[in-house]
Amino acid sequence: MRQKRAKAYKRLMHAYCVTFGFRQPYQVLLDAAFCESIARSGIDVEKQLETVLQGNCKPMITQCCISELYALGPSGQHVVDMAKNFERRKCNHREAIPGDECLTSVVGTTNPHRYIISTQSEPLRNHLRSNVPAVPVMHVKRGVTVMEPMSEVTKEKKESMETQSLAPPPSSIPAPPPPTASTSTDPTSKSTAPPPKKKPSGPKAPNPLSVKKKKVVAPPPTAGKGKGKESVKRKRDEEVEVTKKKAEEKKDEEDDGEGPLKVNIIGGDGEAGGEAGEGAGGRKKKRRRKRGKTVAGAGAAEEAEGEGSGEDSE
Ligand SMILES: [Zn+2]
Repeated sequence: MRQKRAKAYKRLMHAYCVTFGFRQPYQVLLDAAFCESIARSGIDVEKQLETVLQGNCKPMITQCCISELYALGPSGQHVVDMAKNFERRKCNHREAIPGDECLTSVVGTTNPHRYIISTQSEPLRNHLRSNVPAVPVMHVKRGVTVMEPMSEVTKEKKESMETQSLAPPPSSIPAPPPPTASTSTDPTSKSTAPPPKKKPSGPKAPNPLSVKKKKVVAPPPTAGKGKGKESVKRKRDEEVEVTKKKAEEKKDEEDDGEGPLKVNIIGGDGEAGGEAGEGAGGRKKKRRRKRGKTVAGAGAAEEAEGEGSGEDSE
């Protein structure tokens, strides 16, 4: 096959694949006369078709067409032998009808099974060319298998399909405004409608990084044992107040370099009364000193720790 024609056929089949969903192996339906012509040339059919279409091919023949070949008698035996290797396409014609009619009915008006029709019948080719889009047609001309250029109906169909695919799908088109009943009865609904659209663009709450952090006061560990929620809450509030007061007192007292203890007092001395503040502070200081003294002995340190914690929790 000439280079130029090969290129043209390749482009043609590519267009059929892209636009109309043709796939390899291409299903090629051959009529009786085409089989005869190609058998005369002596070339392997599949190879010939694949040379023209430049892809894998599956030669097929309908029941009606092969019975036409049988009708040729002994002279057409070699053609029958060749056609027997093709895949048989069930056309469901009980009595064999002329090949042209059979292929016409198989292709229908839209060629749903994406057949490529190989026929020597001029009337059939004319019919397909002018009536059925998306049917590649082949025939043998002076011993050469040729493919017809894309027909006008096929081109029109291709263009309409391409413009369809370029147009935005119906889902992306903005939905029509809500029912007129709501807009007509409520004039403010129009002004209130836009906000929901804008919602996703901005944050709902203020930027958490720009907001001052809330002070978290640790709840007293012994609060809320077997008491109602109400009373527990009230008690907790009182305790928090007391703790705050105490903390302030501690602060004044511990200005001489005992800062870190403050945290301990707030956390652990929840149950202690306001008047015990001074005493507790004193104890703490003592404990600190004690611990410092007994660093050498681990056992002693543990003892001191136990004593201290015991005093604190009570
Ligand atoms: Zn048939």
